[in-house]
Amino acid sequence: MLVLKGSEAAARIKKEVQEMVEGLGGHVPTAAIVRVGERPDDLSYERNVMKKIASFGMEARSFAFPESIREGEFQAEFQKINDDPSIDGILLFCPLPRHMNGLTFEIIEIGAVKLNSRMEIVDTFEELIRPEKDLDGISPVNRARIFAGEKDGFAPCTAEAVIEILKTYQIPMEGKRAVVVGRSMVVGRPLSMLFLKENATVTVCHTKTADLKAVCREADILVAAAGKAGMISGEFVKPGAVVADVGINVDENGALKGDVEWDGLEAAAAAAATPVPGGVGSVTTAVLCRHLAEAAMRKYGAEQAQN
Ligand code: NDP
Repeated sequence: MLVLKGSEAAARIKKEVQEMVEGLGGHVPTAAIVRVGERPDDLSYERNVMKKIASFGMEARSFAFPESIREGEFQAEFQKINDDPSIDGILLFCPLPRHMNGLTFEIIEIGAVKLNSRMEIVDTFEELIRPEKDLDGISPVNRARIFAGEKDGFAPCTAEAVIEILKTYQIPMEGKRAVVVGRSMVVGRPLSMLFLKENATVTVCHTKTADLKAVCREADILVAAAGKAGMISGEFVKPGAVVADVGINVDENGALKGDVEWDGLEAAAAAAATPVPGGVGSVTTAVLCRHLAEAAMRKYGAEQAQN
């Protein structure tokens, strides 16, 4: 069985990013990493992202706010970052603390539609983030672009990371049966759209799927993104299938486990699979870096066109 290593995909993406950065006339793409609170997962992801962006020859600035910050105050700070021309891209850690579920600034209601003072339809911070700076594809504009299969949208980085690993190893997707277990807005749904764009035939599974095992066994490409350690055993895998494991679960000893039972894959005669750790997760931050370089390139291109 071929092990699909995230490091291979990340190295390929790094080369692409470095070429993009070289074409920016000395401008160093700069990201804002915006965090509210001190969740250990966020802190560890933030460290990873900051390191990765620097290692790709770009810059990252951390904007951390206490969990106790008032929503209005955070909103004003966030808007400054959003509008700052020296910031090319933003990673906003979600979910935000519960008291920040909706925006509180001046809202004008016209029937069922809410507009802010800039006359934009807004309800949440996801809606406030400028789509051209939205590195992790959380804004409604980017979601719509991904849904429509447009090339200019930023997809959520993890969903795109799955496609990137398959492309790195030249695994064909066109005409293949792709089954995605999980339908979250972060992974399952956008990934199903990205597979469609690659001309795969897609099935999306969830907790109400009847006979999950049988559906998974139809997959040429099976993606596990449920967040349930080891739930995909060898019995779910068709011989010759390619398996991508998005799950990140921490066991009682603190070790990382995927959603796929790795030991069952050889016996199931899977053709290839991504490990955990060292698979999809390690490509996610590389994709984020490429989004940052792309955001900077688009801005640079627009400025050049104006001059
Ligand atoms: P969510 O909890 O938001 O979504 C999980 C999805 O899986 C839901 O759609 C749920 O169905 C479905 N699901 C859960 N259990 C089962 C089951 N037993 N059978 C069928 N479907 C099931 O998780 P995320 O999408 O945010 O994350 C999924 C996994 O990916 C997690 O382990 C997370 O840690 C990891 N992850 C990894 C990243 C990376 O960089 N590699 C980044 C983001 C996430 P339903 O909708 O019916 O509830």
